[in-house]
Amino acid sequence: MKFETKLIHAGQEADKQTGSVNVPVYQTATYKQDAIGRDRGWEYSRTGNPTRKALEDCIAALESAKYGLAFASGLAAETAVLNLLKKGDHVVAGDDMYGGTYRLFEKVFRKWGLEISYADSRNPASFKKALRRNTRLIWAETPTNPLLNITDIAALGEIAKKAKAILIVDNTFATPYFQRPIELGADIVVHSSTKYLGGHSDVIGGLLAVADAELYEGLKFYQNAAGAVPGPWDAWLTLRGIKTLAARMKAHEINAFEIAAFLAGHPAVSKVYYPGLTTHPGHRLADRQMSGFGGMVSFELKGGKGPAEEFFKKLKIFTLAESLGGVESLACYPATMTHASIPEKERVKRAITAALVRLSPGIENSDDLIKDLERALK
Ligand SMILES: *Cc1c(COP(=O)(O)O)cnc(C)c1O
Repeated sequence: MKFETKLIHAGQEADKQTGSVNVPVYQTATYKQDAIGRDRGWEYSRTGNPTRKALEDCIAALESAKYGLAFASGLAAETAVLNLLKKGDHVVAGDDMYGGTYRLFEKVFRKWGLEISYADSRNPASFKKALRRNTRLIWAETPTNPLLNITDIAALGEIAKKAKAILIVDNTFATPYFQRPIELGADIVVHSSTKYLGGHSDVIGGLLAVADAELYEGLKFYQNAAGAVPGPWDAWLTLRGIKTLAARMKAHEINAFEIAAFLAGHPAVSKVYYPGLTTHPGHRLADRQMSGFGGMVSFELKGGKGPAEEFFKKLKIFTLAESLGGVESLACYPATMTHASIPEKERVKRAITAALVRLSPGIENSDDLIKDLERALK
């Protein structure tokens, strides 16, 4: 099955009992058992729910994985992966990442004895150098949030294999429409399905796609044991969003390209981050490992925070808000919003400055979006 067909059909056959073409919302906590020790494949909805299972099978198919798992949020999915590790294990992570992931590492897992160090997201050699005898996990996000750095997944895959470490890739920004990390050598893909997969800013969720049975068993055990699962409605909404992923991602990318080109030529803008621009340092790598450049655009405004405040005030179509990947255009100020959980010193070291603005262009008409930006940049 080709990708666009999988979006509509993977995990989503017509309902066996009624023929319903959409997977029903199985709003139930528990399931009748026919006799002691004889259930019909379902026991309790923390352990398994048919609507959630459809979503899990769907993400596995989309990511060319064997197994899928759904969680209550992206961070809950990440927590499941970190729980594969134990005290004294070491993680190497790319240095540019979603602020909440950084907070999970530093404020939650470090105190349980996990060792974490950071490598230059753009440079595989830097990951290799950071390896320790006890490195169990290599963590990459690509393109990164918010600087849209590109990490070479195949190169990290080889490093991970030699080090007998697990490679996880956060594929939230690219989505499997533009990038499939497991095909490039990753072991696990994590998503905040809150973003492009859900696509309508109406549901929080997280997904894992897993290549290997043993890893899957560990994660599945944790999912049931800790219980941060999505309810059936959330799973259903996410599945519904996924059906239009291809159509939406194409539209997001067209708008992102036009906006990036517009910003690159604007006198009030000092820097544009978009991997589709040939001036982006990761452009060639992105061109090789992705089938498109995605929908996110970040840029720096000349003059820093003052002009940024003015800019956000004047926007009419772009909404100042956290999150991304919905059909409506959002604008965010990473320094005090999505990346506020990273201490200022670290933030500035990572180029998340007071001048940085992150845009998530929606699928509105690009003329309107550019007019909105033009007015706000005046
Ligand atoms: C939002 C986000 C997350 C966290 O997901 P939630 O659904 O908000 O818990 C993780 N990674 C990236 C890249 C994100 O943008």
